[in-house]
Amino acid sequence: MNSARDPRIAIVGAGLGGLTCARVLQHHGRSVTVFEREVSADARPQGGSLDMHPGTGQAALGTAGLLDRFHALARPEGDEWRVLDFATAALLARQGPTADGGRPEIDRGQLRGLLLDSLTEGAVRWDRAVGGATPLADGTCRLLFRDGTTEDFDLVVGADGAWSRVRPALSPAVPDYTGVTFVETGFDDCDTRHPDLARLVGNGSMLAKGVGRTLVAQRNSNGHIRAYIALRAPEDWHEAAGIAPDDQRAVRTHLLRLFDDWDESLRYILSNSDHGFIHRSLFVLPAPHTWDHVPGVTLLGDAAHLMPPVGLGANLAMLDGADLAHALVTESGVDDAVRAYESIMLPRSKEAATGSAKGLDNLVPATAT
Ligand SMILES: Cc1cc2nc3c(=O)[nH]c(=O)nc-3n(C[C@H](O)[C@H](O)[C@H](O)COP(=O)(O)OP(=O)(O)OC[C@H]3O[C@@H](n4cnc5c(N)ncnc54)[C@H](O)[C@@H]3O)c2cc1C
Repeated sequence: MNSARDPRIAIVGAGLGGLTCARVLQHHGRSVTVFEREVSADARPQGGSLDMHPGTGQAALGTAGLLDRFHALARPEGDEWRVLDFATAALLARQGPTADGGRPEIDRGQLRGLLLDSLTEGAVRWDRAVGGATPLADGTCRLLFRDGTTEDFDLVVGADGAWSRVRPALSPAVPDYTGVTFVETGFDDCDTRHPDLARLVGNGSMLAKGVGRTLVAQRNSNGHIRAYIALRAPEDWHEAAGIAPDDQRAVRTHLLRLFDDWDESLRYILSNSDHGFIHRSLFVLPAPHTWDHVPGVTLLGDAAHLMPPVGLGANLAMLDGADLAHALVTESGVDDAVRAYESIMLPRSKEAATGSAKGLDNLVPATAT
């Protein structure tokens, strides 16, 4: 192994967790290489708005020295939730924004851009899909790339998300379907083109719940509203309904039928979206997901603790990344650092996974409450 002062560190995955880890390492003058399967930073749209929590996402940005740049982009007024009655659209509850701007929102693409811009040129190697990782007898780890090449490192960090190719080096766990699918769609230029929906959603997020069916709409930057139609349904629900998932008209008709007893102002989300419907089946790792320490390799973020998307995953992935990097720059050796990180991260994620599972049951109730 190289000296503990200059370890060869590879991070697999340029998501929010992996990039935060890389940034904190570089911030302390350490070398790191991030391997990402996508061909470039803008290979695909990055998704919706995220609220950054003070003790997790914001703490990680602080460790990364990026809090001021985050606040320059964030939308504190987006820290607002409205709960509407599904049948009448009457306001049932309202929360935030907190006076101290507690959980500002930011578009995921802006946040990822902020992290990418903070790294040195060439730190991310794009179009480098990893096929697997093999811990070696000397405590190092070998990365196998999909193109058949290999490289050895003192530490491989699996930050490669839900379907991690690094995870099998530590654990046989595979994600299970939660029984909930999000069907995502979107509206552009809302204040001008969809003013009634814009008023319903406000500056932050709006949700309405029925049994097994929930609508969530969330304001993003630039007048965009992203909506999620959450359904308790088998993963192949469209097959059972006899429709092809990419047949937009059939999906729209099916959804309108499913929500036929909902208020028209909410059904507008189904009938008038500008964007097509994207199906996102929600998977989770068995909780608690843990492993026996193996020298030379660890996991962070969704690769370590994939949970239902109830507002924690990105925040925790970033905190994991910051904590691991912090341990690597403060502990005397790589292995001590990884052990210190895992001793904090594994219990933390166990608690969060339990809370997130309850959060999903609450978001999309299976029975009348
Ligand atoms: C609909 C939805 C809404 C959500 N909303 C929120 C929210 O409001 N707040 C919140 O905190 N969390 C939210 N989450 C959860 C959040 O998106 C994830 O927890 C978070 O993105 C995890 O970050 P990560 O860095 O671990 O993984 P990812 O963001 O998944 O990044 C993994 C990276 O690894 C790359 N990769 C994958 N495989 C390979 C490979 N073999 N080789 C090389 N690279 C690879 C991927 O291309 C990707 O860039 C939401 C999730 C969903 C699905």
